Amino acid sequence: MTEKDLTPRAPMQDTSAPACANSTEQAAPAQLPMQQIAGTSACAGLALGPVRVVTRRSSALGRIVLEPPRETSLFKTALVLAKDEIAKLSEMASESDKAIFTFQIEVLNDHGLQDEVLGYIQSGSGAADAMERAESLYTAKIRSLPDEYLSQRAGDVQDACRRVVDILDGRPREQITLDGPCVLIADELLPSELISIDRKLLLGLVTSGGSTQSHASIIARTFGIPAVVMAGPEVLKVPEGTICALDGGTGEVVIHPDEATYARYTHRIHLARRRTLSQERLRTQPCVTRDGVRVALTANCSGPQDIAQAISLGAEGVGLLRSEFLFLDGNLPDEAEQLGFYRSCILAAGGKPVTIRTLDIGADKDVSGLTLTEANPALGLRGLRFSLARPDLFLAQLCALLKAGLAGPLRIMFPMVASVEDFDRAMEMVAQARDTLTQRGEAFSDTIEFGVMVETPAAALLSDELAKRADFFSIGTNDLTQYVHAVDRINPAVTSYFTPASPAVLRLIRLTVGNAEQAGIPVSICGESAADPDLALLYVQAGIRRLSMSAPSILAVKERLMDATAATG
Ligand code: PEP
Ligand code: MG
Repeated sequence: MTEKDLTPRAPMQDTSAPACANSTEQAAPAQLPMQQIAGTSACAGLALGPVRVVTRRSSALGRIVLEPPRETSLFKTALVLAKDEIAKLSEMASESDKAIFTFQIEVLNDHGLQDEVLGYIQSGSGAADAMERAESLYTAKIRSLPDEYLSQRAGDVQDACRRVVDILDGRPREQITLDGPCVLIADELLPSELISIDRKLLLGLVTSGGSTQSHASIIARTFGIPAVVMAGPEVLKVPEGTICALDGGTGEVVIHPDEATYARYTHRIHLARRRTLSQERLRTQPCVTRDGVRVALTANCSGPQDIAQAISLGAEGVGLLRSEFLFLDGNLPDEAEQLGFYRSCILAAGGKPVTIRTLDIGADKDVSGLTLTEANPALGLRGLRFSLARPDLFLAQLCALLKAGLAGPLRIMFPMVASVEDFDRAMEMVAQARDTLTQRGEAFSDTIEFGVMVETPAAALLSDELAKRADFFSIGTNDLTQYVHAVDRINPAVTSYFTPASPAVLRLIRLTVGNAEQAGIPVSICGESAADPDLALLYVQAGIRRLSMSAPSILAVKERLMDATAATG
């Protein structure tokens, strides 16, 4: 890179998800060798700018330990102060991020955690040390959970506990202040740190550790901040101010980009910005193909946080809410807890319909203590089969859902239906849940629609019969492909055989669409493939008029569909 390239240019920013492209147009010092680092994608988008490195302070030196009653009292005061700080952060946070802080307050209220700390204090530890020991124990426990999403909540536990430690050490929480637009490099960012950063100045994020499902990554995706995680410890050694280019989509991080790399990133950023701006115009427009076919685009969500984001991205409702996410930590939520969760999901959708799928555990969604060890779990006691085998759990879920339906438009669907009898048995359980609530004198909704996930070949083949009974269909192409092609969806060795728009799968989709049309019920696709703009178009051409996908894909799918025709030939 030549001297003239070092002239500073005006900062450019485009923070719209999903294809974000952020940069300050400063050039890298020419004399330093370019370094390419391969991390893991956490949020797609490009960034180019000077680096700001955040290094953690080492733990406080020379802590003085007082007698246990005084350490106990210090600990209790610090807990109150920490919860107060978190509550204030929550007030500043967006609706979707408030849940993170609610969780952190729950962590600090946890009696198990408190007793652990008090136990260490009784045996002679200072409160700060005791809190740190309990924190590592808890985070290790959470990290070892089989479910990736839950295991990655460890960052939130750490964040809450470190706040208490900082208060005990008499250190005010260090706020990360940015002096100008930059790419932030850290070991791991805590959710509260990311929330309180001036995001207008944050071009991108690189963490040496972290994980794709940590709340910091989730927040990065919420705000469309290009982010790479697991980039390795070398990134922490990059000097402040060094120019860094990052591609959040591929996980590439380039330190000191050479002239060609710098030019390539600048060009891609311009192109991405143009694209985002044009997609932006589609946000509030209905999705209509060039030949006038209206396609409804809804979102696949896991809780109230992402529902609010999805609606803001133009989702016309929630096409799939996987209720099993609430169960994956092995702690069975009771009816009251489930009711609270479903209600907040429905409220987050602000009057748009929410489709909640009943428990779909089994196969790769293993819940210790609940699911069986089976030789062929994908063909085993999963989805509706599990619910029918555990009427106690099924009834509690249905009661919670029927009551939650009072909060707004709700659709309930059953996973892994493989026969007409399956659906009939599920509806018998619904009738039983209604009776139970009536006997208890509790109000529930009678406007809920009940649907079938068409994700077994049997359900597609029987869709004429099922359509007479169900209010709607939702085709799960993930499992439908797995079962049609006899290809394990989680086995990387057979990925190339996993073809969700193959002639065989499309034939079953067309059959299902035809039978749904004849019965006058809506049919959507909620498998991952609906997020692929080209496959989404194929499905629309096969007669599908509703698609459900992860929220950040909605605008790209809309763009593709609005530029194409539903009719072929
Ligand atoms: C599907 O099978 O396509 C689906 C949406 O359900 P899941 O991926 O949760 O099995
Ligand atoms: Mg499925």
